[in-house]
Amino acid sequence: MASFVFPPAAPTVLTVAGGALYPVRRVLCVAQNYADHAREMGSDPSREPPCFFTKPADAVTSEPTVPYAPLTKRLDYEGELVVALGSGGANIPVEKALELVFGYAVGCDLTRRDLQAEAKKGGRPWDMAKGFDASAAIGVIAPAADIGHPAKGAITLSVNGVQKQNGTLDQMIWSVPEIIATLSTYVTLAAGDLIFTGTPAGIGPLFVGDRVEMRIEGVGAHAFSVV
Ligand code: MN
Repeated sequence: MASFVFPPAAPTVLTVAGGALYPVRRVLCVAQNYADHAREMGSDPSREPPCFFTKPADAVTSEPTVPYAPLTKRLDYEGELVVALGSGGANIPVEKALELVFGYAVGCDLTRRDLQAEAKKGGRPWDMAKGFDASAAIGVIAPAADIGHPAKGAITLSVNGVQKQNGTLDQMIWSVPEIIATLSTYVTLAAGDLIFTGTPAGIGPLFVGDRVEMRIEGVGAHAFSVV
């Protein structure tokens, strides 16, 4: 039996309401998933297929402070519903997709917007714009067994007490089951996978000293300070 050349890193964990620990496998994200205004006109035939990117598992933090990321002059907040999978699979049908969900949390997809703009301009990958240390600030996971599957509650984010984002989950272009089903055609999903589901309008920059407070109706809240 071969031995490790050094001890494997302990898994990144999130706390589940009640105190259990949720080991994070990886972080998958939807790039753009809220239409600017009401979608109550029914389905949008012009919607493009969802676009995905990833963050490493160790980008996840639940700390009350988040360091201002290096090499950026434009660190943006994006308040989002985060889906925590409890099981996985490939080619999951939409009707079965919610069976994979363990629970939900409130998260912030922190973004080096200036690096992302450069990457977009140059047709380059987003990794260093999206997947840096402490770029996924996530709160306590509420089990679906307790809260169900939230699909229309309010999602809000404030900075220093000023509301910046105010949307509802039913504004998502791609619903949670659709996101899971589509993702599962690209990769085999597994327990421990987290999915950021996109952010409503109102994104903007953060500065050292800022206090970010996020809330999703029926899910919970998460807050952190930028240091
Ligand atoms: Mn995002």
